[in-house]
Amino acid sequence: MKALRLEEIGRLAVVELPDPEPAAGEVRLEIIATGICGSDIHGFTGENGRRFPGQVMGHESVARIDALGDGVEGLTVGDIATFNPVVVPAAEADAFQGREQMAPGKHVIGVKREVVASFAQRIVVPAVNVVPLPASMPVELGALVEPLAVSVHAVRRSGAQPGDRVVVAGGGPIGQSVVLALQMAGIERIVVTELSASRRGLVERLGATALDAAGDDVVDRIREALGGAADVAIDAVGIEPTLRASLQATRIGGTVCLVGMGAPKLALDAFLVSTEERSIVGSFTYSAQDFRDAAEWIGQAPPQAAELITKTVPLEAGHDAFAELAAHGDIPGKVLVRMTETDNSHTDEEEQR
Ligand SMILES: [Zn+2]
Repeated sequence: MKALRLEEIGRLAVVELPDPEPAAGEVRLEIIATGICGSDIHGFTGENGRRFPGQVMGHESVARIDALGDGVEGLTVGDIATFNPVVVPAAEADAFQGREQMAPGKHVIGVKREVVASFAQRIVVPAVNVVPLPASMPVELGALVEPLAVSVHAVRRSGAQPGDRVVVAGGGPIGQSVVLALQMAGIERIVVTELSASRRGLVERLGATALDAAGDDVVDRIREALGGAADVAIDAVGIEPTLRASLQATRIGGTVCLVGMGAPKLALDAFLVSTEERSIVGSFTYSAQDFRDAAEWIGQAPPQAAELITKTVPLEAGHDAFAELAAHGDIPGKVLVRMTETDNSHTDEEEQR
């Protein structure tokens, strides 16, 4: 099989690797397309130190079930599916049911260095991590399940309820999927702050109000657009200006959910937390239920979901797509790398065998 491997910081190459074989309890997936995550870009540039040369990254995929290991039931070869990249060891599965992201022994496919992840044409994952998708939906939307699951979890952590006023800092791919997750939760008053005009345009097409994040009056403009202070802020960037604006734009007693990981340390307007009793909550990945809920919603192919995918490039153009994103090219939404030649490559290959 072919895979897109990080050869050194700043360089990906298409390489030939052996097809993985599913062990008992595992499933082999034939990857159709994989989304490029901001964390992959930071791995490519060496910024986050969480990806390594020699690694095959990838954790936002849509696939076709290709082969079942011994003892796997309830899944059908040929079906469209995605996979939940958070793998919990069997010994911790019961104790961390419902909060799988907190299991100390977990690893994340696409992050763990030794695991060949889904910028490859085939991958092996535990059967419990496979989430089937309806054949009726546009197949590429399946690559959005993982980023949407991140946002579903952030919205749940934030405690946002229908009727709330919500501000989202950042209109990039995370902020965009936060908008979808808020809509999925029945929240209608949504304002997004974003520097890029093309991303603001995309956010507006999703049905949220987009404001230019630049300028000293951004907090006033947020409150004006929402018709009052925000009940909840979701910081999908995670740098000092966005955390400050998030705290200032929320009401007394409001909540700021920190999901963006823009900086490892942030100075904090402490009195906005202490004297006015705001809460700051963190959010990381998702529970298995958050992931399944995101998959179910994407499976209904909500019309605005397609807006999140800006383009799909062939495997051979993978390096260039990473380089363009790393150079902050004007790409408003998600870029997917198509790992197979066509949608029905599985059938074609079956016939050749
Ligand atoms: Zn990601």
